[in-house]
Amino acid sequence: MAQDPIYANTPSTSTNVRYTSKDHHADAPHENVPDSAHSANNSSDLQTPVCPRSTWLVLVACTLLLVIVIPVIVYCTRQKQAALEIQLSAAERELHELKARNVKDITDLQKQFEAIAKHCASGWKIFNGKCYCFSTDMKNWTESRDACVTMGGHLVIIESAEELYFLKKHGMGSNWIGLTDSVKEGDWRWVDNTPLSDSSRFWYGKEPDNWKGDKVIHPEGEDCAQMDFTRPYYGNWLDAFCDSHKKMICESK
Ligand code: CA
Repeated sequence: MAQDPIYANTPSTSTNVRYTSKDHHADAPHENVPDSAHSANNSSDLQTPVCPRSTWLVLVACTLLLVIVIPVIVYCTRQKQAALEIQLSAAERELHELKARNVKDITDLQKQFEAIAKHCASGWKIFNGKCYCFSTDMKNWTESRDACVTMGGHLVIIESAEELYFLKKHGMGSNWIGLTDSVKEGDWRWVDNTPLSDSSRFWYGKEPDNWKGDKVIHPEGEDCAQMDFTRPYYGNWLDAFCDSHKKMICESK
């Protein structure tokens, strides 16, 4: 005798699947049973999710990577730290040596400075181991020369651009220096009788011009050198009448 067909709706396909009662109880293919129907009928048929093989491989690889990489990182970090400690120790030693050396240098310079300072009289300035006095007294050249000798020195003898620069830093107004051509016109000599060298002459413009004054009131001309710190001379030299009254720069050893 033929049995009535049993109909069920499948949510996934929305199509009707036809089963016989016999199929439903015994021989119906399992894969054709919709999930909802199957679940409702027998929970023991639920399948446990299986982790894919590739996931296991990834987990194993990651574990091996961590086991290998972490010790390597720790080792490298320790090595780097050890190297930095060595460098730090060397830098500290070098710094200590530099400090000791600088202290010694400063002490030596201080002693040298004190020795020079004691050597110079009060009010005299020190440059390159020599003492200089910028006098504010106004005298003629001969009087100035003698005044410097009285103070234990001489009118300044300028032997280098460095010495000239030092004088420019401290001088003011017009000052006699120890240079004259009073013995022989044009033969400029320092007070120690050494001739003016070609390498250390610092005349202003077309000086010396041995000017004789308006209406030749100074027929002897200009025979003494002055160092003028005013504009536009700025410490360069001019020849002047020796009987003019000016300040003076004295020098001593
Ligand atoms: Ca002259």
